Amino acid sequence: DYDTDFSFKELGEKMHEMNQKNAEMDMMMEMENYRKEYIGNVSHELKTPLFSIQGYIETLRDGGVEDLNVRDKYLERIDKSVERLLNIVKDLDMINRFESGQIDLKFSSFDINHLIQEIFDLLDLEAERESMTMQLQTTQSQLFVFADKQKISQVLINLISNAVKYANREEAQIIVATREGMKNIHISIEDNGMGIKPENLPRIFERFYRVESSRNRKDGGSGLGLAIVKHILEAHKQPINVESVYLSGTKFKFKLDKSPQEKIKKPKLP
Ligand code: ADP
Repeated sequence: DYDTDFSFKELGEKMHEMNQKNAEMDMMMEMENYRKEYIGNVSHELKTPLFSIQGYIETLRDGGVEDLNVRDKYLERIDKSVERLLNIVKDLDMINRFESGQIDLKFSSFDINHLIQEIFDLLDLEAERESMTMQLQTTQSQLFVFADKQKISQVLINLISNAVKYANREEAQIIVATREGMKNIHISIEDNGMGIKPENLPRIFERFYRVESSRNRKDGGSGLGLAIVKHILEAHKQPINVESVYLSGTKFKFKLDKSPQEKIKKPKLP
């Protein structure tokens, strides 16, 4: 009796051990696949600008350098491609630091409306589009938040430049709205652009993910912008929401803590 009992127990333990080993193997396989995919994505993103640079250099070598106009045009293009490479590497570095917990936020109080205006001015210059309106709709002229200003500036730049990029070709309209809620400041960024199909929506915050139609665009980025946005807001303990209607437009929404000043400004009525 004792013997059978004992061997059953042993068998059970052995099976448990085997299951655990299998789970470990699965996990290792998953990590290995993840690593392969990541490296594949990174090298793919780096390859495109590098091949362009190689092509431009070849053109210059093949006589292009003699013609001053051609030379300047191609040097300019090389410069743009190098800038693109540097931006990808900077983005990857930022994601890496977030994922390994190496980012410390520097909190301060600042007026989010002022920051949005500054970003409008910056992007307006870059966009060089004729029929584009960027509008700030707000309930108060100043709204102070308590957050990492530089990082939130990055969030706004990424979201607003996406809105510009994917906005309606003929008549781009971008509305950034801010308002004071009970506990937080609410911020939304809305465009009248191509929208995102519901089946693609859950994936847009993944790094390197781009909807097929954006992959083919010349001005499409590397698919890291929204991954960075999500990381930064997560570090602020805030989620981000997105609503989109395909072929009609997209709206991103998030909240930030009110600045301690803002909280004192309006004491609750008894
Ligand atoms: P990208 O560098 O390609 O813009 P992002 O991470 O910023 O990468 O965005 C991921 C993808 O989500 C984009 O390639 C695009 O397909 C989609 N997307 C993001 N913002 C918008 C928007 N405002 N309107 C439509 N599609 C968008």
